[in-house]
Amino acid sequence: MTESPPRAWAEIDRSALHDNLQFARRHSGKEIMAVIKGGAYGHGLVEIAKELDSQNLPFLGVANAGEARRLFKEGIRTRPYILGATLPSEREEIAACGWTPCLCSFEEMEHFNQLGNDSPIKAHLALDTGMGRGGFQPRQLGEALEKLGHCPGIILTGVGSHLPVADEDTEFTRKQFELFDSMVESIPGRDETFHVHLSNSAGLLDYHSRTTNLVRPGLLLYGISPLSAHQKNLKPVMTFKSRVSVVNHLPKGHGVSYGRTILERDTKAAVLGLGYGDGYPRSLSGKGVHVLLNGSLCPLLGRVTMDQIIVDVTELENCQPGDEAELFGPNLLVSDLAVKAGTIPWEILTQITPRVTRLYR
Ligand SMILES: *Cc1c(COP(=O)(O)O)cnc(C)c1O
Repeated sequence: MTESPPRAWAEIDRSALHDNLQFARRHSGKEIMAVIKGGAYGHGLVEIAKELDSQNLPFLGVANAGEARRLFKEGIRTRPYILGATLPSEREEIAACGWTPCLCSFEEMEHFNQLGNDSPIKAHLALDTGMGRGGFQPRQLGEALEKLGHCPGIILTGVGSHLPVADEDTEFTRKQFELFDSMVESIPGRDETFHVHLSNSAGLLDYHSRTTNLVRPGLLLYGISPLSAHQKNLKPVMTFKSRVSVVNHLPKGHGVSYGRTILERDTKAAVLGLGYGDGYPRSLSGKGVHVLLNGSLCPLLGRVTMDQIIVDVTELENCQPGDEAELFGPNLLVSDLAVKAGTIPWEILTQITPRVTRLYR
């Protein structure tokens, strides 16, 4: 007896990941911190880290000590960088394992200084230039540098900040780049090994800084552009797929799914074996979305249920149980689905559930 294949799966295209990384390198002309938090945006934390480990990256960007530990246990050699403020309870492990934190407050600075008493800790300084999520504000920078001068337990190896509206507000973001550059220029003793970083995907696509030598793309590496003008340069890494379980011939006036969406014509309706329990958003119900089945775009009918969706295949000559459908991927952009679902592609990708098998190609 062989094991049944999964009903819903995500095919992960490794070569697309490498192509997107090359694009990020070429386009920015800077070193890359690959952001792999959130289980590499749903693509699989460890598998993506393994794929990137040979790429000579200075850092892999993770959300917390737990993600850094998973890399550590798998023998990944690229240094984890903890994006954002650390919890007091995480810091001992971060210090002991040599992961790089970014100091977001005086409290964090003092604690890491103590932890680095015997063997100093390499850390970056976080600047708050508009995100409001931690880091030193312009009025605090002088004091932060002054205090750091009295922290023998910390070796400052870089400085960073984050962009809240790089994909929405060009004017604010331009000013933010200028503010960041001028703050960085006031930090003494920067040599060429000192890492200076500000840009996420949108920032690296459309903005320029005088001081940075490192960028932190996430979404872009997975082949989705936060700015649609650049989508043509990227290759979606994930294709989300499922299969037809049954094809039903339903008469005009028949209901479909919970809430009974009433059919306006005689309809050939195919059931696919995935739903919101796999991470296909329920909020796509009734939003005019399609799936790609046997080469044609077929409209979603009625509400998305936990484990099944129903699509209109009336126009398809051929549709059989077992036929494969693409929910999103190179042919149907997850960013377009996100607009219809009233969310963002980052959320859809990270909400694909463990039930969905990831297949690496
Ligand atoms: C998530 C994150 C990124 C990556 O953002 P994308 O828009 O996915 O490129 C970069 N920097 C920080 C601090 C982040 O939290």
